[in-house]
Amino acid sequence: MMASEADCRPLGVFECQLCALTAPYSYVGQKPPNTQSVVLLEESYIMKDPFTSDKGRFLVLGARCSVCSKLVCVGPECSLFYSRRFCLPCVQENIGDFPQEIQRDMATRTAASKRPSSQP
Ligand SMILES: [Zn+2]
Ligand SMILES: [Zn+2]
Repeated sequence: MMASEADCRPLGVFECQLCALTAPYSYVGQKPPNTQSVVLLEESYIMKDPFTSDKGRFLVLGARCSVCSKLVCVGPECSLFYSRRFCLPCVQENIGDFPQEIQRDMATRTAASKRPSSQP
């Protein structure tokens, strides 16, 4: 009883340092609880998926940028994963070190974010 309660209790509140997204997280690490074979590629902040009662479902909220160690969410406007987690400011600073597909991807992301957000 006690143990399962502890499982559900949030450890703290994840806060993205770029977009101010906040969400309670219940686990930090690479092996989310209640999952048999899931091993994440990075240490992640994880919450149980609130939209399902399936215990094995979880949401990755974010992780630390491997360059500046800012806490960033996994949203496309905040970070990308390319063998390690990078926040977008760090990607932009070192864009020359990334392969062309990432550079192209970044170009579309920045173009998209400059567009007025009146569109649905
Ligand atoms: Zn964010
Ligand atoms: Zn960074």
